[in-house]
Amino acid sequence: MRVLVTGGAGFIGSHLCDALLDAGYEVTALDDLSTGSLVNLTGALARPGCRFIQGDIRDTLRVERALETFDAVVHLAARIGLRIIVESPFDTLDVNARGTESVVQAALKKKTPVLIASTSEVYGHSTKIPSSENDPICFGSPTIGRWSYACAKAYDEFYSLALQRERGLPVVVVRLFNTVGARQSGRYGMVVPRLTAQAVSGTPLTVYGDGTQSRCFCSVRDVTAALMALLLRFDDLSGEVFNIGNPVELKIVDLAQKIVERTASKSTIEFVPFASAYPAGFEEIMRRVPDISKARQAISFEPNVPLEEILDEVAAGIRSPAHR
Ligand code: UDP
Repeated sequence: MRVLVTGGAGFIGSHLCDALLDAGYEVTALDDLSTGSLVNLTGALARPGCRFIQGDIRDTLRVERALETFDAVVHLAARIGLRIIVESPFDTLDVNARGTESVVQAALKKKTPVLIASTSEVYGHSTKIPSSENDPICFGSPTIGRWSYACAKAYDEFYSLALQRERGLPVVVVRLFNTVGARQSGRYGMVVPRLTAQAVSGTPLTVYGDGTQSRCFCSVRDVTAALMALLLRFDDLSGEVFNIGNPVELKIVDLAQKIVERTASKSTIEFVPFASAYPAGFEEIMRRVPDISKARQAISFEPNVPLEEILDEVAAGIRSPAHR
C-alpha cells in the first residue's frame, strides 16, 4: 500500500511515516517545511520506500500530480501552534481550509481514501466534559484570532464528510487531542516541549494563568497506532469521526511539577498572566477531555504510553545534539 502523508515532515507526520515504513508501506511525505523539518525525516528518508515532496497543499496542480499514484492519503498538513494561529488568522484559514479543499478534491478524482486530521479545538468552550464526537462544537467569536483554527478545521470536517456522503469519497475524520512526544517543537506554543526545555536549561517554567486549566496528553506513538488502524478500515468506517487522545486529565501546574521532577531540574515555576503570554486574539480553554469510547469500540484504541515515559522521551530529545 502506498500512502501520501501531507505534513509528513511535521511532528505527528514524521512519526507516522516511520510507523508506516516499519509496517512495510511505501510512503511519500508532502510538506512545505513551514513548521516541519527534514531533520524529522532523517531516519525515514534513509530507508527504501520513502520519498519527500516539498510543496504547499494549496498548490492544486502539484497536489493532484502527487496524489495520482497513492492508495490512501493521511492529511495532517496544517498551520498549527497557538502563537502562529493567534498572529495570523488569515493564513490559518487559508492553509487549513483551502489547503484541505485542494487535498480532498484531488483525492476525489480517483476516490482515494483520505484520513483527515481535525482537532479537539473544535470543542472549544463546550462545558460538556468529556467531549464526544456527536456533541455540538462550540468555538468563540471571530474577533478572537484563536478560533480561526477551530473554524477552519470544522469546515474541513463538514467539507470532507459532505464529499463522502454526496460524491462517495472514502473519508475518516480524527479529532486529535493534545499529542506529545519527541520531535515536537516548543517554538509556537506546545506546553510540553516548552516547559521541558525550560526545565532542562534550568530556567523558570512559565505556567500561564494560575495553572488550573487542564489538558489530556497522549503519546504520539499511541496516536500513530490509531491512525494506522483507521487506515485499514475505510470499508466500514468511512464517514465516521473519532476522538483520538488520552482521557487522563492533568492541570498545567501539576504537569509543570511533574516535568521538574522527571528532569531532576532546579527550575522554579513562574506564573505568567495570559495577557503577557499571548498577543491579542487569545482566549484560554480551561478543560479539554476526550471521550474515546467510540475509538475503543471500533479499533480497540487504548492509549498505553504513560506520561512519565513521554516526558522522558521529550527530555531525551531536547538533550540530544540533534535538537535545534
Ligand atoms: N501553557 C503554559 N505555558 C506555556 C505554554 C502553554 O502554561 O509555556 C498552557 C496553555 O495556556 C494551555 C496549555 O498549556 O492551557 C496547553 O497549551 P498548548 O499550546 O500546548 O495547547 P492547547 O492550548 O492548544 O491545548
